[in-house]
Amino acid sequence: MDKNKILLKGMVLPMTGPKDFFARGEVAIEAGKILSVGPEGSAPQGWVPDAEYGGPDFLIMPGLINGHTHAGMTLLRSYADDLPLMEWLQEKVWPFEAKLTSDDIYWGTKLCILEMILSGTTTLVDMYFAMHKVAKAVDESGFRAVLSRGMVGTGPATELAYNQSKELIENWHGKADGRIKVMVAPHAPYTCPPDFLKRAIKLAEEYGVGINTHLAETKVEVDDITKQYGKSPIRLMEEVGLFTRPVVAAHCVHVDEQEIELLAKYKVGVIHNPESNLKLASGVSPVTRMLEAGVTVGLGTDSACSNNNLDLFGEMRSAAFLQKVSCGSTALPAYQALELATVQGAKALGLENLGQLKPGFKADVILLNMHQPHLYPRHDVVAHLVYAAHGSDVQTVIIDGNVVMENRQVLTIDSEKIMAEVQSRAEQIKERLTAGTEQS
Ligand SMILES: [Zn+2]
Repeated sequence: MDKNKILLKGMVLPMTGPKDFFARGEVAIEAGKILSVGPEGSAPQGWVPDAEYGGPDFLIMPGLINGHTHAGMTLLRSYADDLPLMEWLQEKVWPFEAKLTSDDIYWGTKLCILEMILSGTTTLVDMYFAMHKVAKAVDESGFRAVLSRGMVGTGPATELAYNQSKELIENWHGKADGRIKVMVAPHAPYTCPPDFLKRAIKLAEEYGVGINTHLAETKVEVDDITKQYGKSPIRLMEEVGLFTRPVVAAHCVHVDEQEIELLAKYKVGVIHNPESNLKLASGVSPVTRMLEAGVTVGLGTDSACSNNNLDLFGEMRSAAFLQKVSCGSTALPAYQALELATVQGAKALGLENLGQLKPGFKADVILLNMHQPHLYPRHDVVAHLVYAAHGSDVQTVIIDGNVVMENRQVLTIDSEKIMAEVQSRAEQIKERLTAGTEQS
């Protein structure tokens, strides 16, 4: 049945302000958009839904936005852990990635999307390679994504990556019923020299798209760039003109006061990845200070290789705890942590009409089943969402007005097939690594 008109009933947290909450509310959806949000009975009179979801024990909120990941890297989950950073990268991650085929990345991305839907995420931002396969996986799954072909600005693969970035924009920007947007992705200041960064900026300008990059992730990066160019990564990015485009910058862990002012001034969308920063011992990003200074901060998981799950509920909790341990127990309160994964995330990515439940906004909505032992008593459901809930509490997921998960059954992806494919492909990649064979 075509579920063009959907009515959701339950507790409604529209993320339009800390006081906005309907204990017995409803959300009406029509033609992929939110039609109305309010207390029970607020849907337009005479309006008849095709389907109805929820009930008194359900909580309705915007779908979560994962602002930074490398979807294909689900294939590396638990392949390399607990190692020194450079050993992890040079001896494990890069050799494994060198053996990945574009089909491997397609299946790895499907697994990533499957896990995200099951944990209430409805938008992902990806930076990787074989992005035409990533786009295909996103399109088929009914997911929403900002996609970018990661480019390293030195070495033999540079031109290929540059051309593939161009192709990705031409073939996929605005496609999949508008669910896919494309950005240009110079990987990081330490992999892209200024001349190449300028080319990337020009490319983004030419197509009118944004830029997705890693910035100020580790102290080593800041020290090396400062030594090489006489200025920090963020100041160098300002000098080369990166901030003349809309920029999404993952990490921003090592930033000083002046740099925070620059991030605010140029409206850079910072994506905080607390668990990746913890696991790789990158440091604590000054999120509280950035928010005070007016910087837009979204939330990301980074890849399944440095996290190792893609559950944004856990990520919100980690973000809050990390600020508390560094700034005090009142830092990053629960509602603010939720904002990072919804309204702030949408703003950081320049995605309009997303991240809040408002009439006219895109219908990316999740329903959580709150009738569970770890979610009683209900003194404060916002606190529950950040400090007690899990992604697995999400029951139903709607993206662009389409039901993609119903009662924890993902409708757009064959879960069993994906898990079997990924397992067998991961084993084959390991065999190719051991055999040292080249993969075409
Ligand atoms: Zn990353």
